Amino acid sequence: MTGWVVIAGLGPGNEDLVTPEVRTAIDAATDIVGYIPYVRRIAPRSGLTLHESDNRVEIDRARHALQMAAEGKRVVVVSSGDPGVFAMAAAVFEALEDAPHWHDLDIRVLPGITAMLAAAAALGAPLGHDFCAINLSDNLKPWELIEKRLRLAAQAGFAMAFYNPRSKSRPHQFGRALEILREEAGPEVLISFARNVSRPDQTLNTVTLAEATADMADMRTLVIVGNADTRRVGGYLYTPRSVA
Ligand code: SAH
Repeated sequence: MTGWVVIAGLGPGNEDLVTPEVRTAIDAATDIVGYIPYVRRIAPRSGLTLHESDNRVEIDRARHALQMAAEGKRVVVVSSGDPGVFAMAAAVFEALEDAPHWHDLDIRVLPGITAMLAAAAALGAPLGHDFCAINLSDNLKPWELIEKRLRLAAQAGFAMAFYNPRSKSRPHQFGRALEILREEAGPEVLISFARNVSRPDQTLNTVTLAEATADMADMRTLVIVGNADTRRVGGYLYTPRSVA
């Protein structure tokens, strides 16, 4: 039997947002690999082995998936959202760089609906003009670089989406990020906190940067900061496609 690795995104939570392509891959798999809460979203069945691992072992998990595929297994590595956005797809290719003997394996990345796009859709159209996405976690990069990118993105007038905005291990950094945004973008710019998007307990909260406080975000929140033109229309938020 020929093995393969599929790196798949499960979307933001709602099962209707898992693509048919991803479902088909999961149905054909012998093994599922991923961070515990994502693997728990896969229904157990005979012939399918579920391998749950902790959050900080991405490269080990990627090697394990590649090893199993080399042995003939059909492996799906699951991420939430899209696997290419701050998730497992890049980790698999990092593991592959050090392993030329695996370069001929059948490896495919299947896209998913990333939290940023699900949050934007729930809010209206805050990303209707140019935008960028920034991971606020300093696990894999220095905090100084995050500050620099925030400043330059705000100066350039990008709307912004923040992943991993705030965790218990770094409680003060998000407050600092808000300070920088107030300095560079001004206090009137709108900021939205979209928590548990697409799940039954979804909440959306939009305030100005002046009103925003660090405790409005946690690790289940996707934050969207508008540009200077982002505004409310009825119960929605949108950014016009053109700049005056
Ligand atoms: N690959 C994922 C992102 C992983 S980083 C994706 O494409 O969505 C994890 C971060 O994603 C969380 O800290 C949070 O900021 C965001 N996130 C993931 N699912 C979310 C959801 N349902 N609602 C709000 N934010 C979410």
